[in-house]
Amino acid sequence: MTRFGIGYDIHRLEEGRPFVLAGIEIPSRLGPRGHSDGDPLSHAVADAALGACALGDIGDHFPDSDPAFLGLPGPALLERTRRLIEENGFVIRQVDSVVVCQAPPLAPWRERIAGGLARALGIEAGLAGLKFKTNEKLDAVGRGRAIAAWAVVNLENRP
Ligand code: MG
Repeated sequence: MTRFGIGYDIHRLEEGRPFVLAGIEIPSRLGPRGHSDGDPLSHAVADAALGACALGDIGDHFPDSDPAFLGLPGPALLERTRRLIEENGFVIRQVDSVVVCQAPPLAPWRERIAGGLARALGIEAGLAGLKFKTNEKLDAVGRGRAIAAWAVVNLENRP
């Protein structure tokens, strides 16, 4: 049976934080604040994968009150999520995602970030979709104060 899940995340951008998406560090004056590494893309994808098998959300599995998850890199969170999915009898087939961010420009990094996602999820690079949008300078994301991400993940029963 094919299953789909949707995920969303947003993080404030602050000075002095590294800007990392799917394990790829991008030069930027500001970076996402978070208990983990603050990577909204990895968090949205993990939530989508958990949602596809009704396993709750990343707050249930990786609570930000737990010091064990302090600074947890996005790919590590995705790999742990993937193991959880597989223990529940599913395998990740495909992901599509959108990152909404006013700056820095992310398009030059697409291939590397999508590759980071694909590696962490154990899928081929051609099955990890990634788009970038600005927010047309509207709202907090558009004023450069936050970065948001959406994702859809497709799972199938483990063969
Ligand atoms: Mg998050």
